[in-house]
Amino acid sequence: MFDFEILSEDKKAREACMIVDDKEVKTPLFMPVATRGVVKTLIAEDLDRLEVQAIISNMYHLLLKPGIGTIEDAGGLHRFMNWDGLLFTDSGGFQMIRSDFENKVNSNGVTFNTDRDDTTYEITPELCIKMQRRIGSDVAMCLDYCPPYPSDRGEIEKSVIRTRDWAKRCKEEGDDISIFGISQGGTIPELREESCKDIADLGFQGNAIGGLSIGEPTDEMYKNVEISTKVFPEEAPRYFMGLGSPIDILECVDRGVDLFDSAYPTRNARHRTLFTRNGKIRIDRRKFKKENGPLDEECECPTCKNYTRAYIHHLCKAEEMSWMRLASIHNIKFMMDLMEDGRKAIREKRFVEFKEEFKRKYKNC
Ligand SMILES: [Zn+2]
Repeated sequence: MFDFEILSEDKKAREACMIVDDKEVKTPLFMPVATRGVVKTLIAEDLDRLEVQAIISNMYHLLLKPGIGTIEDAGGLHRFMNWDGLLFTDSGGFQMIRSDFENKVNSNGVTFNTDRDDTTYEITPELCIKMQRRIGSDVAMCLDYCPPYPSDRGEIEKSVIRTRDWAKRCKEEGDDISIFGISQGGTIPELREESCKDIADLGFQGNAIGGLSIGEPTDEMYKNVEISTKVFPEEAPRYFMGLGSPIDILECVDRGVDLFDSAYPTRNARHRTLFTRNGKIRIDRRKFKKENGPLDEECECPTCKNYTRAYIHHLCKAEEMSWMRLASIHNIKFMMDLMEDGRKAIREKRFVEFKEEFKRKYKNC
């Protein structure tokens, strides 16, 4: 069962309720990334406490380790990682094509070898959906073909055709589960538009924007997001894959995007960068050595309620690994608060004011 009901709108931004089987979430929504079946340094109980509604794992990484059969035998990925919330899985097409492994892409799918066990994997669109079904994903993503940035027009044209053909095959394979299609088209407006139309025509439960936020200039990204949200139907969720910077997210909500995921908040945390309402801070800087206040005065996460900047600074300096966990808890909660505040602003028809106020404070560091 899949349902998407728009609750309120403020120009293009919308607040909606998305129901997948027995799981209900509110959008705009940010999903932390659990690539290998874990949000790095955290456990499922932490995610509950931080009011995370949905996460996204990666079929390709799980296939390599521990293997789809292992997860299936454990009762599916929900049970394996003790996660009751909504679970998206990415097909891993992006990683397969960019991995260090020797790989071959043709119209039938992706073939690659790993040094580790000398196995040859052949991932077709059908197999990709079958494997996501086997691990118990609530929402599966299509296998797409994302060319690197920059690529020439010919390469992008090829990716649009291949992505459309693969999406069709994914749809035929997975009529019994919820699947989101993924568009490509690089930053060439007419190809982006064509790819979005291709995907929208297939009638997936949701439509994703792929192949952006991979190194193109920000204004190009926004332009192609606008093309995408114009083409994608209003009545289905729109998902920008791999976008995690708070300001970029608010700009894309303003352009009609509903869902986001990225390793950006947790990766930043592990690299000692914390998000605050007054901008990003590097907690290993000397000036935090004696600051006995929380990371962010307005944050109510377990880290901010119980620990000081000075303590986290000390853990960093002493290379005590718990700082990664404390920092990740905070950055994830920051993203959850940002989305909740965004939803409230949409309801109150003041989203643009909220966005501009957030940007003003966040950039002021
Ligand atoms: Zn906090």
